[in-house]
Parts: sequence; C-alpha cells; structure tokens
Amino acid sequence: MRTVAIIGRPNVGKSTLFNRLVGQKLALVDDRPGVTRDRREGEAELGHLSFRIIDTAGLEEAEPGSLSDRMRRQTEAAIDEADLVLFLVDARAGILPADETFAELVRRSGKPVVLLANKAEGRGGMAGAYDAFSLGLGDPVPLSAEHGEGMGDLLEAIEPFL
Ligand code: GDP
Ligand code: MG
Repeated sequence: MRTVAIIGRPNVGKSTLFNRLVGQKLALVDDRPGVTRDRREGEAELGHLSFRIIDTAGLEEAEPGSLSDRMRRQTEAAIDEADLVLFLVDARAGILPADETFAELVRRSGKPVVLLANKAEGRGGMAGAYDAFSLGLGDPVPLSAEHGEGMGDLLEAIEPFL
C-alpha cells in the first residue's frame, strides 16, 4: 500500500484532513518513541483509492510561528516514508514564512508533492490559493477539509501518484 504524508505548518488543517480521509475507520495513535511519537497514521479512503496516511502533529502546535527541531525531524521522517506528500497551506492566511520553510523541506526531498490550499470554502478562500503559486510547487488545489469541499479535485490530483 502506498504511503501519503500530510505536512505543513501548525493550524493549516492537517488533522482535519487526516480525520476526513480516515473517517471512523482506523485512527491509530502511534506511541513509538522518538520522532514518531506524536504523529498519527491510518488507512485512508478516497473514491476508489486506499492508502496509508501519516498526519504530522506535535505539541509544539501550541506555539504558532515556530518550527521546533522536533517538528522538523518529524516532518522529514514522514516525507522520507512517503510516496506522495500532501503539503497544506491555509488559503485564508496566505503564505507565511513558516510555509516557505516547509516548502524547502519538500523540495529538498525530491518527493512528489501536491499543494493543497485548505480553508478555501466560501468568500475569501481563493485569494490565498492564488498566493500559494509563489511556493513554486505547482498548482494549488483549493480544498475545504472541514466542509468536505474539493475532495474530487484532491482525488484527481493524487491519483497519478498512487
Ligand atoms: P493542524 O494543526 O494543521 O493539524 O490543523 P487542524 O486540523 O487542527 O485545524 C486547525 C484549525 O483549522 C481548526 O480550528 C479547524 O477546525 C480549522 N480548519 C480545518 N480545516 C478547515 C477548513 O477547511 N476551513 C476552515 N474554515 N477551517 C478549517
Ligand atoms: Mg494537527
């Protein structure tokens, strides 16, 4: 089974997307020590696709704006394992310096990446999605993990890699 990692700075909606893709099915909490300590993984389903999915989490999500060493290591470990990286940004907040830091991690890895502009529902959602072009990681896919919008476009974007 292919592995997909959801990465991005705190508060962009990674866990919301994880929960939506995994549903009630199998939301494993991974308690292994070290870099994997506070990440979660599960089996996702989207349309006809099934894949293993990793949510990069972290207690340091309580400290917005900082990218701790632990979060960086956890993100790098998840990217390493992934066949495809889902890189989330917040379409409402636009692109912040922390997003650039994560973009650099993905770029350096050379892994296939799909850029997702989350929180794109309703008015004002699209502005940040356009902003995300500046990351140089291709066309952002507008999405609302919370409202379940754009899931068909997400499926279309990830299908070639899985
Ligand atoms: P994470 O830190 O990247 O895992 O982000 P979370 O999944 O914990 O979400 C952070 C906040 O963004 C929460 O308050 C979510 O309810 C909210 N959120 C997640 N997805 C969406 C979305 O599609 N639209 C809006 N408006 N809010 C969202
Ligand atoms: Mg989270």
